[in-house]
Amino acid sequence: MEWDNDPIYQMAQRQFDEVADAMSLDRNLANRLREPDRGILISVPIRMEDGNVKVFDAYRVQHNDTRGPYKGGIRYAPDVTLGEVAALSMWMTWKCAIMNLPLGGAKGGVRIDPTKHSRLELQRLTRRYTSEMVGFIGPQQDIPAPDMGTNEQTMAWVMDTYSQLKGYAIPGVVTGKPIAIGGSLGRTEATGRGVVYTVMEAAKHLNITLGESTKVAIQGFGNVGSHAALKFEKLGCKVTHISDVSGGYVNTKGFNIQHALDYVEKNKSLKGYTEGDSISQKDVLTAPADIVVPAATGHQIDEKVAAQLKCRILAEGANGPTTTEGDRVLKERQKDILVIPDVLANAGGVTVSYFEWVQGLQNFFWSAKEINRELAKLMTKAFEEVMETQKKHKVFMRTAAQMVGIERVAKAMLARGLYP
Ligand code: GLU
Repeated sequence: MEWDNDPIYQMAQRQFDEVADAMSLDRNLANRLREPDRGILISVPIRMEDGNVKVFDAYRVQHNDTRGPYKGGIRYAPDVTLGEVAALSMWMTWKCAIMNLPLGGAKGGVRIDPTKHSRLELQRLTRRYTSEMVGFIGPQQDIPAPDMGTNEQTMAWVMDTYSQLKGYAIPGVVTGKPIAIGGSLGRTEATGRGVVYTVMEAAKHLNITLGESTKVAIQGFGNVGSHAALKFEKLGCKVTHISDVSGGYVNTKGFNIQHALDYVEKNKSLKGYTEGDSISQKDVLTAPADIVVPAATGHQIDEKVAAQLKCRILAEGANGPTTTEGDRVLKERQKDILVIPDVLANAGGVTVSYFEWVQGLQNFFWSAKEINRELAKLMTKAFEEVMETQKKHKVFMRTAAQMVGIERVAKAMLARGLYP
C-alpha cells in the first residue's frame, strides 16, 4: 500500500513486527494487523478570504475496528503525511486496547498550518473535510477527536456538519467537543492528567516520592504539556524546564504554571517570557530533571538526545516522540530510565473520549470528580498490566505496552473469525 513507503509508517510496522515476534503472534493475524483496514485520501478545496480557492491534502486512515468503532484524532499540520496518519492509526488501535476500551484505532490529518489561516477558512476546511467523510464516520463507525492543531471548536464544526447532512443532532460522532453540545468535563485536561497518573505509578514502582525535590522538564506547552505541568505543580513537584515553538526556558526554582499559561494566552507563545532563562528546545529534553515529558511533536528523541537524557522517568506525552534509533539507545539504558511509552502515557485523552461517548449514549453526564477518579483507575490498571508484562517477558516497556494491546486485539480477531 501507499503508506508502506513512508518512513514513519515503516517505524510503526517495525515496532509491530518486533512485538509480534516477541509474543509469537499467529502469522495470519500479524499479516492482517500490520496493514490498516482502510485509507481515505481527500483533496479539500477551500475558498480563502481573498476569494481564491486553495486545495489541501487530507486523510483518514482506519486501522482496526475488531473491538469497537474506529477512534482517533484529526491533526492539522503542514507536514502531515498519509504514512504518519497510518502509523498514528495503528498506535490508536494499541492505545485503546491497552486501556481495554471497546474501541478500535483510526487517525485523520489535513496538510495545513492552522496558525496561518483565519477562523472562517478553518471552519470551511473542517466542514468540507467532514462532508467528504460522511459515509465513513459516525457514532458506531468511526469517532474523530482533537489532535495537534485541532480543538473543541473543530469538533463542534465536525458535529454540526455531520448532523446537518443527516438531518438531526448527532453529538456522538465526535468526542472532545464543547460541553454545550455534549462534551465531557475533564476531557481537555485528560491527556496531561493521564501522563501524570502514569508517572505517579512509575514513581511508586521506583520508590521515588514525588514532591518538592522532584524536578520536571516538559517539552511543549500546548494542551498536553500545560495540563501535565499544572498537575505536577499540584503534586508539589517543581516544573523547572518548559518549552514551546519559541524555544526553551529554565527556572531552577520552578515555574508558576498558571502565570506561564496566562502569558501564553496574552502573547500566543512563551516568546519573551522573563520568568526563566532562555535555552534551546532540545536542552529541555536533556535537562537535569527527574522526570522528562516530551509533549510536543514526533521524532524529538533521536539517538543523540536519548544518549544525553538525564531523567529517571521519561513519560511520552506526544505520539511517536522517539525515533527507532533513539529507542535502541533507550533500550540499552532501561535500567537507568523508565520509559512510559506514548500508547500508555498519553492514553488519558482517548479514555475520557470514551467516557464522553458513553455519557452521550446514556444521555447521563458524570461529575468532574467521577471522571477523574475513573480516569485514574483505568490509567493505574493499564500501567500495572504493562509493568507485569514487562517483568514476565523481560522486554522493553514499549514492547510490553504494545504486547498488552496486540494480545487483546488478537483475541478479539480470533473470536470473530475471518469474513467471509
Ligand atoms: N488525539 C488523541 C490521541 O492521540 C485523542 C484521540 C481520541 O480522543 O480519540 O490519543
